[in-house]
Amino acid sequence: ELELALKVVIVGNGGVGKSSMIQRYCKGIFTKDYKKTIGVDFLERQIEIDGEDVRLMLWDTAGQEEFDAITKAYYRGAQACVLTFSTVDRDSFEATHSWKLKVENECGEIPTVIVQNKIDLLDQSVVNPEEAELLARALGCRLIRTSVKEDINVATVFRHLASRCLEE
Ligand code: GDP
Ligand code: MG
Repeated sequence: ELELALKVVIVGNGGVGKSSMIQRYCKGIFTKDYKKTIGVDFLERQIEIDGEDVRLMLWDTAGQEEFDAITKAYYRGAQACVLTFSTVDRDSFEATHSWKLKVENECGEIPTVIVQNKIDLLDQSVVNPEEAELLARALGCRLIRTSVKEDINVATVFRHLASRCLEE
């Protein structure tokens, strides 16, 4: 039987929770001091969308985002993208547009969602809800608010992207 495999890249500034999101979704765990994916480029999870098997390969950047040194191999063949910023990191919010351009430059237009992570820290938020909505509208992406820590909406992100890819 035919199985769809999707390469998904997860981008955004360091510290926003990208590696944690991948761990959470693929392994069902959350650890506070998670550092790097050791020895692997991606983790995967298989889901079913409208009766179709979809294998999601979630690519981690292993920290290179700090040095603007993400290699072309990271982006190569990516079919969907998660643009991530953190509720408590203003710089990460402001970097979202440039991350979108970087991905577009390497991959063209691919299904993309904007993720505002760490909504469990909403009382310390440095991004107001309206400006997050405005950014999403300006970039033509759906905004999904998540807490990887509390496991809120993480699955929604990947189901949404997989559905979008199946439509194409
Ligand atoms: P990356 O650099 O984008 O890969 O970010 P990490 O996954 O390494 O996460 C950076 C820090 O944020 C770690 O200490 C995580 O435990 C923490 N973190 C990730 N997601 C959440 C979340 O939803 N809520 C909170 N409070 N902390 C989170
Ligand atoms: Mg990381």
